[in-house]
Amino acid sequence: MEVVIGGTQLRLLQGDITRERVDTIVNSANSGLMGGGGVDGAIHRAGGPAILEACKRIVRERGRLPAGQAVITTGGLLPARHVVHTVGPVWHGGRSGEADTLSSAYRESLSVAVREGLRTVAFPSISTGAYGYPLDLAARVALREVQSFLEGGEGGTPLEEVRFVLFDRRTYEAYADALSAVAEGKGLAGLGPPPKP
Ligand code: ADP
Repeated sequence: MEVVIGGTQLRLLQGDITRERVDTIVNSANSGLMGGGGVDGAIHRAGGPAILEACKRIVRERGRLPAGQAVITTGGLLPARHVVHTVGPVWHGGRSGEADTLSSAYRESLSVAVREGLRTVAFPSISTGAYGYPLDLAARVALREVQSFLEGGEGGTPLEEVRFVLFDRRTYEAYADALSAVAEGKGLAGLGPPPKP
């Protein structure tokens, strides 16, 4: 499923983000940047030790990464050139600023990519695994924030493509539903027929 926003392709697909050949993939990290389970573990396993070394250097220099912020490292052995590491919110019921923190994680990740001159970015579904953010809510926050980032700025952004690479069917469908809802509210150009991965 695919739409165009501010001159940038926004695509949803089902798959494994560690296999994406893009300028940068985004990692849903934790504040210690030491790897872990889920997508974080998969990225470190596939990318090799250079990513962890770079993360350790960052933590040595600037301390733990607060939720909602983002940093960039090499992609190591990954097909992606870089990894942007961001930290999403842990879900505590929705009244602890979770939506703002999740929005910030997407926005800051895109800002880092633009600052580094990158053109293609792939996101996983941040916070909807171990961090427990309800999938339907997270999908709407994610797509709304990406949409507003791509619409902002005079004449759009330099980004060519933003992809969401969603690991399982259920997650893909939640994002497809959310994209339709966001698109209906805003009348996005190029919204295709009903979703298929
Ligand atoms: P969080 O701490 O942000 O909740 P998780 O890694 O537990 O992080 O889950 C976030 C999402 O990443 C989940 O939808 C999970 O299914 C997905 N995921 C796990 N491995 C991969 C992968 N290799 N590629 C893309 N998404 C993945």
